[in-house]
Amino acid sequence: MTATSKVVEQVAVRLRAARRVLLLAHVTPDADALGSALALGLALESLKLEQHIVVSFGDDPMVVPRMLTCLPGAHLLADCHAIAADEQPFDVALSCDVSTLNRLGANQDAFLAAQTSIVVDHHASNTGFGDINLIDPSAPANAVLVLQIVDALGVVVTEEIAQAIYAGLITDTGNFKFPATNPAAHLVAARLLSTGMKHDFIARKMYDDDDFAAVQLLGRSLARSVLDREALHGTGFVWTTVTTEDRAALGVSIDGAERVIDTLRITSEAEVACVFKEDDHGIWKISLRSKGAVDVGLVAQTLGGGGHKFAAGATLGPDVSSAIDDVRRALDAVR
Ligand code: 5GP
Ligand code: MN
Repeated sequence: MTATSKVVEQVAVRLRAARRVLLLAHVTPDADALGSALALGLALESLKLEQHIVVSFGDDPMVVPRMLTCLPGAHLLADCHAIAADEQPFDVALSCDVSTLNRLGANQDAFLAAQTSIVVDHHASNTGFGDINLIDPSAPANAVLVLQIVDALGVVVTEEIAQAIYAGLITDTGNFKFPATNPAAHLVAARLLSTGMKHDFIARKMYDDDDFAAVQLLGRSLARSVLDREALHGTGFVWTTVTTEDRAALGVSIDGAERVIDTLRITSEAEVACVFKEDDHGIWKISLRSKGAVDVGLVAQTLGGGGHKFAAGATLGPDVSSAIDDVRRALDAVR
């Protein structure tokens, strides 16, 4: 038995024994974080152990991003206020894809108050802030670790559980395009598809189903993108902005800005791509992507954020020009 599989067993034992279980994704969740938490919630529910199972993420208000509304298990969701109003601590709180405690946002206290806290993650930077830590940076997605827990629980993987796990898998492997894609990723996908799950439905809802306004926002942002061929010792840097002004004019929420990085990053003249996104409070967030030579996870860490080697992010300040300067300086420093 490997060290990881021992921890998987330990996690499954704790989950089975708990009466009240809190499953948490990170703030502004992606499909790997929320899909993982929902898959685990549905798996526990299927065991009919008379548990109180809550899935949450610490945004206030807690609004499920549009591209994730296709995920099953929405009946398990409760926001930080409902959790705080409940007063009783949870027996187990388990975080999914959360690299640091502060990424739990408004659910940090509930996590810490639980009798047993469990961290399930695949970020290499995770230092282990739980009582039990299942951290495997070689996992292509956090959802793959969740499937191991589901198996250890003895749960039959239903179409719904498979869909939630598949959503995480395709997100973190960039639809099987990113370097994180390994043989295990395809083996897991094959197993999930064999449940009869509708992979085409999940893929379309998550990646090919945007409002026209969001498509136009993509156009505006790409039209003003900047390519600096000399940056990063000539390997190139491409960046653009998504302003609240543009979003307001088109009636698009911050979710609608998520697509921009996926197109910007295809620029062959740039090793690194960055999208600066202004949120509703005028604060600039960044999405960073690297083709391989630059560890943008490290770059994001120096800016107070984090992430993976090839996909990372951070929250900067209210001034876009200093945000752009900060990113350029951090990129220069890391290389
Ligand atoms: P995205 O650009 O898709 O929002 O984020 C890419 C990855 O960067 C995420 O999977 C997550 O690991 C990480 N990330 C994004 N924003 C933040 C942040 O503000 N703080 C930290 N620690 N990680 C972030
Ligand atoms: Mn992930």
